Amino acid sequence: MNQKTKTCQNCKNDFVIEPDDFAFYEKIKVPAPTFCPECRSQRRMAFYNVLQC
Ligand SMILES: [Zn+2]
Repeated sequence: MNQKTKTCQNCKNDFVIEPDDFAFYEKIKVPAPTFCPECRSQRRMAFYNVLQC
């Protein structure tokens, strides 16, 4: 296994990026996320809320 453990820049919790996910991020040339899945979904929700205004 080659999982990457990152620390969330928002809540400072450690989270794991699966090897498959990591390969996907490299493939589409974006950096691996610095936010844990929870914070990312919260940010996404906030983003959608803004759009709906
Ligand atoms: Zn977080």
